[in-house]
Amino acid sequence: MPQIIDGKAISAQVKEELKEKVAKYKEQGIEITLAVIQVGSDPASCVYVNNKKKGCEFVGIRSLSYELPEETNQEELLSLIDELNNRQDVNGILVQLPLPKQIDEEVILNRISPAKDVDGFHPMNVGALCIGKPGFVSCTPYGVIQLLKRSGIEIAGKECVVIGRSNIVGKPMAQLLLKENGTVTIAHSKTADLKEVTKRADILVVAIGKPKMITAEYVKEGAVVIDVGIHRGENNKLCGDVDFDDVAPKCAAITPVPGGVGPMTIAMLLYNCVSSVELEF
Ligand code: NAD
Repeated sequence: MPQIIDGKAISAQVKEELKEKVAKYKEQGIEITLAVIQVGSDPASCVYVNNKKKGCEFVGIRSLSYELPEETNQEELLSLIDELNNRQDVNGILVQLPLPKQIDEEVILNRISPAKDVDGFHPMNVGALCIGKPGFVSCTPYGVIQLLKRSGIEIAGKECVVIGRSNIVGKPMAQLLLKENGTVTIAHSKTADLKEVTKRADILVVAIGKPKMITAEYVKEGAVVIDVGIHRGENNKLCGDVDFDDVAPKCAAITPVPGGVGPMTIAMLLYNCVSSVELEF
């Protein structure tokens, strides 16, 4: 049987550590505040925003909630971001995606001060990651690194293959694995022979957005498989981009969906909020 990488337990461990750190900061008179902005009331976004606020409450971070109507225009959102950028008492600003179509996401994300960009999406933070400088790191791939490290999985020297090249998962994931001294390949929708590439992987990170696409024939015997995908399938059941039942018997370790990468994303958002106190820009 493979090692099942328990994202629920590891995220709980991270949050407990953060809770202690936040309490220490409070003793020194430092309060950490996250501003959470939601535009419209997309049901999935409401769930995510709510979970983020609950996470803040658990570790002792103050959260400020901005719930704007669906018809909010870009200028209105930009002026709220400017206001929050200028507030000394706000450490982090999070704009829940997706935004309504009248608003250009890139313009909004680029307006958030890099020093408050706890999602790690600003080009300055992305650039810092690429050249190995301190900055905020995108939460989901950062969470994957924590899962690997805290499960005792060595990255240095390993063949790491990331499937997916999105700005929020695939690309930062590859950079982080490189930083940990993995030998990294990025595969994507135009990769000529995907199986040939993925079968080289000692560590395979899958972020495609296609339910159960990765079956055993894509995986080398004894590989570590990390499934970033999340989909609601038949009977409302969650599944990932990896066909867990097919792949698991072949692996040394694998993340389940749910309970793998998912819980780590919020834990690392909270981690970024706490590190905002220490990071220098
Ligand atoms: P995306 O759609 O932006 O990117 C998907 C990537 O997969 C693209 O770069 C594309 O080149 C590649 N791809 C698509 N079809 C392919 C194919 N047939 N073969 C090889 N590569 C292919 O998606 P994303 O935002 O990176 O998210 C990926 C998955 O991760 C989604 O299921 C998403 O829901 C999930 N996700 C989960 C979390 C979490 O917290 N667990 C966070 C972010 C994303």
